[in-house]
Amino acid sequence: MEFKILVIILVLLGGLYPILLNIFKRKSSENTIPDSVNDIYDDETYAKWRSYNAEHSRLDLINGIVVLIVTLIMFAFNLFSAFASLFPDVFAWKIISVILLDTIVSQLISIAFSYYSTMVIEEKYGFNKSTLKTFVIDQIRGTLVSLALSLAISFLMAGLHSWLGNYIIILLALVMFAFSLLISFLYPILSRIGNKFTSLEEGELRDRLMKLLTDHGYNVRDIKVMDASRRTTKLNAYFSGFGSTKTIVLYDNLVNAMTTDEICSVFAHELGHGLHKDVLKMQIMNIGNMLLIGVAAWISLCEIGLHEAFGFTELNYGFAYLLTGVFLSLIQPLTGMLINAYSRRAEYRADRQAVTEGYGEAMIGALKKLAKENFAELAPTRISVLLEYSHPPLADRIDAIKAQLRKENK
Ligand SMILES: [Zn+2]
Repeated sequence: MEFKILVIILVLLGGLYPILLNIFKRKSSENTIPDSVNDIYDDETYAKWRSYNAEHSRLDLINGIVVLIVTLIMFAFNLFSAFASLFPDVFAWKIISVILLDTIVSQLISIAFSYYSTMVIEEKYGFNKSTLKTFVIDQIRGTLVSLALSLAISFLMAGLHSWLGNYIIILLALVMFAFSLLISFLYPILSRIGNKFTSLEEGELRDRLMKLLTDHGYNVRDIKVMDASRRTTKLNAYFSGFGSTKTIVLYDNLVNAMTTDEICSVFAHELGHGLHKDVLKMQIMNIGNMLLIGVAAWISLCEIGLHEAFGFTELNYGFAYLLTGVFLSLIQPLTGMLINAYSRRAEYRADRQAVTEGYGEAMIGALKKLAKENFAELAPTRISVLLEYSHPPLADRIDAIKAQLRKENK
């Protein structure tokens, strides 16, 4: 019984965290906008931005509360073991039944909320580029991917646990790490699915981007433009590829919305990340994170009492997967905070690179456009920044760039 109370408390805390974040975020709207960024939105856009944020955060708040209540009910009333008992008493079914119930319930909630978010809120503010058909296809695909992933991990845990017993922790950490590496290798390939890439046409932009990278010893395989405008109006750009050979990917929205100088500044910034091996450093931090995930999984597997407390007569690997998730909902915010703190420092450093390359002013222009297009929060509360911002607030970045510009002009 103690285990049950303990897990339910953890579920409660893990579920309260996003609700707390939401409340801090809503507080931000009471802050005054710093002078350096008060030209981003005109009054009309600003009013629109506020109501956009308010609608999203209200929806998120309700979403968080619904998820918390449903999860509490499912744990408190032993619904997972009750559902599992409806299935044949076969090893595979024991896992599948638990994962199936969890996926069905969480996807139903998620689809309902993302329907409202995409088709009502995003639509109302002109961000939505997906039709009902693409929405349905995306949701079905998302559900199947989530089901397959949960099942794969549960069966993997089962296989490894019966093979290695309680030494599984070391292997789990390694497997998770390999998995995260695989994802980052596969990302450029995965992102190709459903998107079209065309080479950037010859011209000044192409030459300057090439020069920016080759000056620092990189080889550029190609500069591609991705047709992101079919799905979103947001602006983005990234570098991909391992070693010194890179493929540059620009969202077509970025190319259309920014001046050549601004696009180059975004790239000089990305170059800053590349030169400081920020991606690699983040990956190393992820190893530490993976180790913690391994510990969470290990506890879920080794303490049979955690399963018995929720009506199972023996260890259930599907339920172990869910328990791991409960532990992680508390661990991840903490590690996320540390990784985000590092990431914010890396962002300042990358901005300094853009200044060094002579794109300081252009960077400010680009950041303002990015903020405007992405409908960024201009005056977030400090606590929100501390808890969940991977990038510093715009005003802080602009202040830092201006300080750097003054220093270089001396
Ligand atoms: Zn960056």
